[in-house]
Amino acid sequence: SFDFYEFLHRTEKSREWLKKAVEVMPGGVTANIKSFAPYPIIMKHGHGAYLEDVDGNEYIDYLLAYGALMIGHNHPKMKERIVKQLEEDGTNLFGTPHEREYRLAKRIQSYYPSMEMVRYTNSGTEGTLLAIRLANAYTGKQKIAKFEGHYHGGYDKVLFSINPDPKKAGPIHTPTPIPESKGIDPYYEKNILILPFNDLKGTEAILNEHKDEIAAVIIEPIQGGFIPATPAFIQGLRKITEQLGIILIFDEVKTGFRIGIGGAQSMYGVKPDLTVLGKVIGGGFPIGIVGGKKEIMMESGPKHSSDVFDVSQGKKTTATEVLFHSGTYNGHPTILAVADTVLDILEEEGKEVLKRTERLKKGLEDLFRKRGIPMQALGKGTIFSVVLTEKDVKNYRDLQNSNLSLRKKIDYLLLNEGIYTKPMNRYSLSVAHGDREIERTLDAYQNVLYKKL
Ligand code: PLP
Repeated sequence: SFDFYEFLHRTEKSREWLKKAVEVMPGGVTANIKSFAPYPIIMKHGHGAYLEDVDGNEYIDYLLAYGALMIGHNHPKMKERIVKQLEEDGTNLFGTPHEREYRLAKRIQSYYPSMEMVRYTNSGTEGTLLAIRLANAYTGKQKIAKFEGHYHGGYDKVLFSINPDPKKAGPIHTPTPIPESKGIDPYYEKNILILPFNDLKGTEAILNEHKDEIAAVIIEPIQGGFIPATPAFIQGLRKITEQLGIILIFDEVKTGFRIGIGGAQSMYGVKPDLTVLGKVIGGGFPIGIVGGKKEIMMESGPKHSSDVFDVSQGKKTTATEVLFHSGTYNGHPTILAVADTVLDILEEEGKEVLKRTERLKKGLEDLFRKRGIPMQALGKGTIFSVVLTEKDVKNYRDLQNSNLSLRKKIDYLLLNEGIYTKPMNRYSLSVAHGDREIERTLDAYQNVLYKKL
């Protein structure tokens, strides 16, 4: 097992901080996911591809705030843009519409043509919440179908079967909904269906059985950002949902802009009815973008142009006629300015990140092969995971059958080598991860695999 001595020795100040933090925050953290045993490392600075912790240790950051930082930490162009926008326009939070909302929408649509109309939210969670409400409103149906192992945000409607104990999760073709948290309103358990990922027959059977009650299927086209849907599965799912009148929502909060700039939908050539984006496009600031078919999106606003333009008619739109969507910070002007700059940076440098990710994946696969440990660097685009098995991994349950304990041990050993991802997490790359960082990462792995295991 992992000898924590070196870890404890290097991270003394983190440990001291945590002792204080647990007095004021449960577990010393503001999101449970940020915690890990024996204690999380407290970070102080982020610069380019690097993090520095409170003890002064430097790490190459592959967590990148759960994939959000594809422009790296503190990109100079992003900083410049924020300063410029603050100096020229001020905070600019008017509580009114503004020009940038339109301009960014048009730019997003050029990469995501399925998003015929868009709305902004403040996070991915709020984005999927709005998409699901739109689907409920448009179809007049209540049930939502999601896939086992897929995450769409931390609220009661979808917080089921993300990381369930496979022994309790029911048959593989018809998984049982398992609440992912204490305190979930049991009402939602009746309205959620859990589908088997990459199993078209199983999925089709469940959708057919409940077709009259299902408003939407929500999916991460690439589960957790690294287990891809097979093209046949995602195309089949598109066909079935269309035939059954079920809205198909692509949750591209993780894959958007990372699997190439046009996301998973561009890679697969499949058009969902609704899409949710987030993370990367915010360049480190909170954002969500929801978009899709015009007729569905129109549910979220005044329906008739006269309601918008001819105020003199005094038309009153009642709350029941319109779907509620609001948010003080929706479309925050400073964040939309950053988003615009993120697109500039990705247009210029995004393809290089794809190439470097391939280099790192190949380098890691070579190292593991030489060391005789079955491994695949699983994923598409600029995000992948180190999966320790040579078997095909097509869903959550396959992943549970890989060598998770060895993966965990390697991750902890890498922390001591200055490679940061939260143990058991994915690897995301940024424009700041250059050849030097990749070399250093491969050296660290070599050290761990040959000298520390
Ligand atoms: N959907 C997916 C696929 C995600 O990966 C996440 C976050 O990890 C979310 C939704 C929620 O986004 P946020 O954390 O911005 O609320």
